[in-house]
Amino acid sequence: MGAIVFISSIDPAEQQQWLTSLKLLLPTETILLPDMFSVAQAAEVDIAIVANPDPNILQSFPNLVWVQSLWAGVETLAPIIRQHNQQREAANPLQLVKLQDPQLADTMAEAVLAWTLYLHRNMPQYALQQGQKLWRPLPCARAQETRVTVLGVGELGLASIKVLLQQHYDVSCWSRRKKSLTSANSFSSLEQLPLALEQTDILINLLPLTPETKGLLNKPLLSNLPVGAKLINFSRGAVVDYTALLELLDSGKMSHAVLDVFEQEPLTPSSPLWAHAQISILPHISAPTNMATASQIVADNIFQYRAHNTLPTTVDLSRGY
Ligand code: NAP
Repeated sequence: MGAIVFISSIDPAEQQQWLTSLKLLLPTETILLPDMFSVAQAAEVDIAIVANPDPNILQSFPNLVWVQSLWAGVETLAPIIRQHNQQREAANPLQLVKLQDPQLADTMAEAVLAWTLYLHRNMPQYALQQGQKLWRPLPCARAQETRVTVLGVGELGLASIKVLLQQHYDVSCWSRRKKSLTSANSFSSLEQLPLALEQTDILINLLPLTPETKGLLNKPLLSNLPVGAKLINFSRGAVVDYTALLELLDSGKMSHAVLDVFEQEPLTPSSPLWAHAQISILPHISAPTNMATASQIVADNIFQYRAHNTLPTTVDLSRGY
């Protein structure tokens, strides 16, 4: 059994915290940084734990069997692994495992509920009214009459749908494959997406960024939303065309957007998104990885692999998520 390599480009102090946390849970494993391996030792390594790894460093471990990502989003990593596999025998591809942590899903669901309530209960408008010392109650539909559509019904989408239903929202969802969910309308396929948007007051994006979803929420598509609709983007910035979003907000077609993710992070000071009265900016905080629970998930995955030679669900590299 070779050592495990930990490849990351994160801040060294955070990297050290991860190593400490993982080593505590995996006392029989040796987990080392890449520069601690000789070429011969690197050839023995079958598992890499990664967080934004340098592709060249990953390449220097030629016999990896699988890569465990510490993040849920794999839009950068999936193409790196695909490229890596072009140099391998087709029968022996490197596998990618993304972080699937129920705690992460609960944290995202909590954020989805918090910001849905923020939009539904007119909080952006009341903040503006306070600035104008304006005492003006605004109409507010019941949750049952507020149509919330969740794009992406994966780990995070499903947990979010559950809390929205508990809060009595009128929930719909859209995914590649149709879901059978009690109490939520399920849409699938590109053809049905405009129909789903036509029936949406609050749109929540939890789609992974892939070649298919990049720029998906563009002006023609968002224009299907009813007047005054709101958007929450908690997955990746590049899924939404923010220039189109600004135009739709400025024209009054849409009323507010909560944005946690951007193509370039941190968001540049020159971005027009910062100062827009109908946009709430968050610094990518809707669902941070919890080091304690994530380390336990990673440790369990490694334990299962060592004990039974089984891997958890791996990323479908052709789909990119
Ligand atoms: P996941 O389990 O992989 O689920 C992805 C969902 O999107 C699935 O329902 C899938 O449909 C659907 N989908 C993918 N491509 C599609 C397409 N072309 N058309 C229609 N539906 C499509 O993902 P997850 O774990 O829920 O995470 C979602 C994303 O959240 C991550 O990729 C990451 O970008 C983001 N994230 C953000 C934060 C944050 O703090 N802001 C934190 C963690 C993750 P099927 O079910 O039919 O396959």
